[in-house]
Amino acid sequence: MKITDLKCAVIGQNPVVRITTDEGIDGYGEIENTKPYLKPHVLFYRDFILGGDPTNVESVMLKIRRVGSFKPWGSAVSAIEMALWDIAGKAAGLPVYKLLGGKIRDKVRIYDGGVRFGLKGFSPQDYAEEMAKIKEAKEGFTIIKQAIGYHTQMIKNMPNFTYSEVRTGRFDRGRGPLTEYGLKHIIACVEAMKKVLGDEIGLALDCGPGWTIPDAIRLAKALEPLNIMWLEDLLTGDYTPYVSADMYCEVTRSTSTPIHTGEQIYLRNNFQELIEKHAVRIIGPDPADVGV
Ligand SMILES: [Mg+2]
Repeated sequence: MKITDLKCAVIGQNPVVRITTDEGIDGYGEIENTKPYLKPHVLFYRDFILGGDPTNVESVMLKIRRVGSFKPWGSAVSAIEMALWDIAGKAAGLPVYKLLGGKIRDKVRIYDGGVRFGLKGFSPQDYAEEMAKIKEAKEGFTIIKQAIGYHTQMIKNMPNFTYSEVRTGRFDRGRGPLTEYGLKHIIACVEAMKKVLGDEIGLALDCGPGWTIPDAIRLAKALEPLNIMWLEDLLTGDYTPYVSADMYCEVTRSTSTPIHTGEQIYLRNNFQELIEKHAVRIIGPDPADVGV
C-alpha cells in the first residue's frame, strides 16, 4: 500500500487530516479546535510521506517526527500518526487498540475540563456558583479541573494582583511574583470551590504557567488541608517549549499537594528528566500533542 495524498480541512475550528492511499483506504486524524492555524503546518509534511507504506506506521513517522516540536506544533505530527494508524487498523480489519497491545480496561475515568456554565467574574462567590452548576451537571463528574491564577484572565481583571507588568495576548498571559493580596485571593477562590464540592468530588487546578517558585510553594502548602488532586503547569506548561525539571523538583519536594505538568511536551524522550528526577507527582501527556 502507498500513500497518495495528505489533505487537511478545517471543519468548524478543527483541522482534520486525511491520508489517502492507492488501495482506496483513507485514514483520518483530528487536531483540537483551538488550533485551526495548524493547517499549513500539517501540509508541510505532505511531500515527506508521499509514497510511503502507511501500514508501516513507524517507518513513515521516522520521515517527519524530527521536524515537530512542543505544543502547539506537535499536534500536526500526532494527527498524521493517528491517520496512519487509522489506515493500518482498517487494512488489518482490527480496531487500532488491538495493534497497540490490546486493552486492559473497559472504562476510563475522566475529569471535567470542558463542561462550563460561564464564570461571571473572579470572586470566590463566582467560582463557588460555577462549581455548584458543574456538580449538578448530568454527566455526573467525579473530578473537576478549574483554571485559576495565570491560567485565567484573573490577573487582568483584578488590580494589584501581581508585581509584574500585566500583559495581554493569547500566548502571553502574564508571569512573575504575585502580591500577597493576589495569592490570598486565589486561595480564597479555591476554598470556596472546595466548600461546594465537599470530599466526594475531586478538584484539580490548572494554574499557569508563569508562577515563581516561592509563590508556587506558598500556594501548594496553603492548599494542603484541602486535598487538591493536583496543581497543573505552575512553572512551565501550556505553550512553554522547555520542561524545567529541576525547578519542579523544588516545588514537589516542598509539599504534599501533587504537582503536575506535561501537556506541552513533545516526544517521550522529553518526559525522561521529569520521571527520573521525580520532579512531579503526575505527568499529563496530551495524546494529541505528544508525537510519541
Ligand atoms: Mg492544562
